Amino acid sequence: SKKMDIEQIRADFPILHQQVNGKPLVYLDNGATTQKPQVVIDALANYYRTTNSNVHRGAHTLSDQATQMFEDARITMQKFLNAEKSEEIIWTRGTTESINLVAQTWVRSNLKVGDEIIISGMEHHSNIVPWQMVCEQTGAVLKVIPVLDDGSLDYDGYLKLLNDKTKFVAVVHVSNALGTLNPVEDIIREAHKVGAKTLIDGAQAVAHWDVDVQALDCDFYAFSGHKLFGPTGLGVLYGKEALLNAMPPYQGGGEMILHVSFEKTTYNVLPYKFEAGTPNIAGAIAMAAAIDYLNSLDRVALAKHEDALLARANELAAQADGIRLIGTSKNKASVFSFLIDGTHPHDVGTLLDQQGIAVRTGHHCAMPVMEQFDIPGTVRASFTFYNTLEEVDALFKAIEKVKMFLL
Ligand code: PMP
Repeated sequence: SKKMDIEQIRADFPILHQQVNGKPLVYLDNGATTQKPQVVIDALANYYRTTNSNVHRGAHTLSDQATQMFEDARITMQKFLNAEKSEEIIWTRGTTESINLVAQTWVRSNLKVGDEIIISGMEHHSNIVPWQMVCEQTGAVLKVIPVLDDGSLDYDGYLKLLNDKTKFVAVVHVSNALGTLNPVEDIIREAHKVGAKTLIDGAQAVAHWDVDVQALDCDFYAFSGHKLFGPTGLGVLYGKEALLNAMPPYQGGGEMILHVSFEKTTYNVLPYKFEAGTPNIAGAIAMAAAIDYLNSLDRVALAKHEDALLARANELAAQADGIRLIGTSKNKASVFSFLIDGTHPHDVGTLLDQQGIAVRTGHHCAMPVMEQFDIPGTVRASFTFYNTLEEVDALFKAIEKVKMFLL
């Protein structure tokens, strides 16, 4: 049976059991990066201890073993996302690199002057800047879906932006700053009706729920391993095989070629065409360990637990004075972004840290949406399944102390 006892699960994460600034650590910065279960740490260490070799070189036993583990990890990821083929899983450095890859390959080679790319007003900078760069390169135009006051997407506004010039739609699945869960299935379907391709920034979604790329019917899906209980420096780009085959390579180098001569180079087949250079072998193997771990959990029950954490935070916020919530849409992940009237988020963050509570403060790499709400930033507590109701209570006790200190 699958695991859903929170205390048992917490025992799997060694970092959680320590004091910070003399107080028990309350880690509420899971949107920035998630902690790693022991099995992931072990997978990394064991790989370097017993198997470390380069992959796809085939010259010796350890290299064969490393290659096997690396490619098995790809299949684990394929199944996790329900991709049709393992060739559709490209290992990257993270969400940022995955998005830049698509911008500089499919989009750069297919868009021309006057074509349109649609993003939303709640995007992370990594789903804004790569599109601005490719607009400069191609003469395409960037269009932005408005965000409503509750932090949800203006869906009718999106429909109005769609037209026969729309060639690409890139939207965040779950906003890191607001927690908003966007109706990406509808967004993708409507984009396809005008012949546009789609990319979903799943950086904040994959840690909360299972994602099925075939059910979504997205053309590309991007995320980072480190936000999914895996290592840093390892990310995923899912792409539909036909598109990946049709688009030019991103970086040139070893691995991504079949044959090189000074006259002409031919490129490797998928997925290697997009994996120039020695990949993050240990990272991919540890990522697979993280997914095996997630598969041992009852993720549906844990998502309900996360909803309960958010509900408790909302309830305590309503009882407290002077707390302003940013991002109150009905459909959201367990991201609790707020301000305390009369205080600056950075001061609140510092004083929470002194009480052992780790949150993120600032603009969350989403300056445009902060501007829309006319705020310098927020304090963000982002919960995951190993957080407890007691930790939410601890956050609010600490908030009262912060208020006494600052107000
Ligand atoms: N998109 C979203 C929604 C994010 O939350 C983040 C990370 N904060 C990113 C993209 C970028 O991820 P990374 O820095 O791991 O490339």
